[in-house]
Amino acid sequence: MLYNFEPSDNNLHFTGTQINYYFVCKRKLWFFSHNMELESDSDLVLMGKLLHEHSYKRKSLKEVEIDRIKIDFIEKSKEIHEVKRSRKIENAHVYQLLYYLYSLKKTANWVGKGVLDYPLIKKKVEVELTPDREAELENILVQIRGIISQERPPEAEWKSYCKSCAYRELCWG
Ligand code: SF4
Repeated sequence: MLYNFEPSDNNLHFTGTQINYYFVCKRKLWFFSHNMELESDSDLVLMGKLLHEHSYKRKSLKEVEIDRIKIDFIEKSKEIHEVKRSRKIENAHVYQLLYYLYSLKKTANWVGKGVLDYPLIKKKVEVELTPDREAELENILVQIRGIISQERPPEAEWKSYCKSCAYRELCWG
């Protein structure tokens, strides 16, 4: 399902993936934001795709796209869900979902809660856009804009995530 809104607010020009990458790796955020999109061939990425395709099949409001955000599914009309494979980079998941809540509040005056679903470990984490979190998120959006507007990507820093990153050859090849 696709709904189109043209965001007038500078803070709404990002995708959930960009918010996620800010926490995963700022260099990866820069590559991705400069249209250097590489598909990872790792088994982990494939598993993530399969999980999205096969989880929560009976939900009617699945994969709802509203401008630049893509919500995995909506439940009880006031709950948006994001499905993830593991809790490894949970901060990235939390802020991605906070950004969805923020975007919906700004574009559609919709206020509800977010839920992170980890079906493989049968866990759920509730996420709420409190005023403190909103201020924190806005600060992060400023930082993301700053990173993207740099002429060159930030220096590579080795982390365990690099092993499964699509850009590993660019950084460490
Ligand atoms: S390989 Fe590592 S340093 Fe390079 S973009 Fe990926 S996560 Fe970042």
